[in-house]
Amino acid sequence: MRNTFPVFDLHCDTAVALSDTNQVWAENDLHIDLNKESKLFSHTQVYSFCCVYDEHGDALTGPEAEAKFIRCISNFYSELAKHSDTHKLCRTADDLLEAAKEGKHGVFLSLEGPEVIGCDPGRLDELKDLGIVMTTLTWNHANLLAGSHKTGEGLTAQGKAFVRRAQELGIIIDVSHLSEQAFWDICDISMSPIVASHSNSRAICDHSRNLTDRQFKTICNFDGLVGLNLYRPFLTTAATATFDDVRRHAEHFIELGGKHHLSLGFDLDGCDELPEGFRDLSDCNGLGKALIEGGMDEQLVLNLMNNNAARFFLQYLQRRNVGEFLQMDELTRQLNEINVNT
Ligand SMILES: [Zn+2]
Repeated sequence: MRNTFPVFDLHCDTAVALSDTNQVWAENDLHIDLNKESKLFSHTQVYSFCCVYDEHGDALTGPEAEAKFIRCISNFYSELAKHSDTHKLCRTADDLLEAAKEGKHGVFLSLEGPEVIGCDPGRLDELKDLGIVMTTLTWNHANLLAGSHKTGEGLTAQGKAFVRRAQELGIIIDVSHLSEQAFWDICDISMSPIVASHSNSRAICDHSRNLTDRQFKTICNFDGLVGLNLYRPFLTTAATATFDDVRRHAEHFIELGGKHHLSLGFDLDGCDELPEGFRDLSDCNGLGKALIEGGMDEQLVLNLMNNNAARFFLQYLQRRNVGEFLQMDELTRQLNEINVNT
């Protein structure tokens, strides 16, 4: 069996954690650094910016949240500049293909909590200019756009305008953290596939942050993507989680028809309780092996750890107009070219 795995992960909080703890990307005591990354076969990571609370967990709004966002993203840009020989900031499908051809790690940026732009659809262009390719509508608080999984309200008129403008700009809508009502309101108006970047199955672990079977199937019908989360309370109600819990969520989603729509959103550096045997990013190798030893097909594991997300990002970011996507055979050719199946 293979010892190293290609990994494409949809959500981590490492970029903000670097600023909060005053550490560098190259080597740190967080879940993700470049040394841990080097243990993987390959690594493409969406680095998320959640700047709606401070380092003590207190809520930040308005100018304070915006100031934190600018501070954190500027800091991460300087870190990227130090490692441009090994890492490539990806805004487009071509960037991702180039990164793969050059043997560099792909780096995507996303936003969690649009309070940092005042929830203003008119400021989504600024996010795009900063390289943000995906955004949620909320974190755990309700805001001008929608209710969260904790508060329950649906999508507001401003929320609808926000979704429409984001999709016009080619920014992916991430429904993790959202209320179920707002989720269905988005499905009513969405013109593009949607993503739940870091959410598990509510049928396996009944938590409001997780997706119902109906939500998951709807995301699949939209040709969207769901990333499995490693945070213990989203995996199990037991005191500790294991790799078997991760496999149970994955197998349930696959039974619902999700084999091409399942990926990873491990929430690393955003969660303090991980499954037994998982300390940091390098343990993705151990998890991949455990999934195969637990009975999952190796190609299925490679698809969920890397290929499904690679295909989705290539397809979504290569779109020329709303609703227009590349044909599957062209995508397959490009994927073969960059060898994500090895
Ligand atoms: Zn989150």
